[in-house]
Amino acid sequence: MEFDLIDLIRMRTAAARADVTLGIGDDAALLAPPAGHELALAIDTLVEGVHFPVGTIPADIGWKALAVNLSDLAAMGATPAWAVLALTMPQVERSFVEGLADGFAQLARQHHLALVGGDTTQGPLSISVAVHGFVPVGQALLRSGARAGDSLFVTGTLGDAAGALYCRGRTGENVRALRSRLDRPTPRVAAGQALRGIAHAAIDVSDGLLADLAHICRASGKGAVVQAASLPQSSALRAVFDRETARDFALTGGDDYELCFSVPSARAGEVTATMARLGCGVACIGRVVEGDAVLVVDEHGNALSPSRRGWEHFST
Ligand code: ADP
Ligand code: MG
Repeated sequence: MEFDLIDLIRMRTAAARADVTLGIGDDAALLAPPAGHELALAIDTLVEGVHFPVGTIPADIGWKALAVNLSDLAAMGATPAWAVLALTMPQVERSFVEGLADGFAQLARQHHLALVGGDTTQGPLSISVAVHGFVPVGQALLRSGARAGDSLFVTGTLGDAAGALYCRGRTGENVRALRSRLDRPTPRVAAGQALRGIAHAAIDVSDGLLADLAHICRASGKGAVVQAASLPQSSALRAVFDRETARDFALTGGDDYELCFSVPSARAGEVTATMARLGCGVACIGRVVEGDAVLVVDEHGNALSPSRRGWEHFST
């Protein structure tokens, strides 16, 4: 039984890469990493009901299981190459596996990524993907390089996935747009690679901007000031929620898979031009400062009151 499934996965995800000496089918894959590069390796697990809503269609699960991992590689400035997939399912359903493999393959093809192996077991639905990518030696983007005075940027828009979770069960064009951001996040792979040699620090926003920015600050021994008015928000988010709720989602909502990064302020213009060339939205949301706190300020520069809302003062 397991062998049929594996064949099915292999056929539906087939991708040719010269650096895959031996793919799915033996006890281990054989791979040929390029000289002069470091291997960047990340793994993430999606559990039904925890990381995606029960009832999410299989193709979206397959897409997202890969997307969250590609997002980690993007945050390192790495180029994706290979993946392995560990699949745990309560029962073997052909149509489910086909859908999952197709969603996975759709995103994998966009990034010339080859699925080179995996594991299949029975149990509560859970999908683990490990991705492998390359980065020229010494050039990976780390969380730890932010300097006081750096400009802080984020790609895309924030808060859409959190908004989608909030309006589960509702319908309409805007709700559908939010839902597609939750189910089919766009890993910012090209943006991450373009930031090599420009960004001082980078992270992907998976747990919410303030939480993830706090990781950059802690790793760098710095603080940050975020301008609430500069947070990039989609028109769908603005249409569905009032201003304060949308702002809260943008600051604390998880599952966005955008990049947050710091660059020397003198290179801010270069960042804007580079992202425009890639067709990737980008917004300057604040700056890195001395200290250890992440502050959110309004358009007058006043810190938003921590007593009214829980998130304004994230001590790192
Ligand atoms: P073993 O028992 O030696 O681990 P398996 O029967 O689990 O071998 O797997 C056989 C081959 O199929 C291996 O190459 C493995 O990497 C691949 N494989 C198993 N499950 C998956 C999966 N879910 N996705 C991709 N490849 C898989
Ligand atoms: Mg096995």
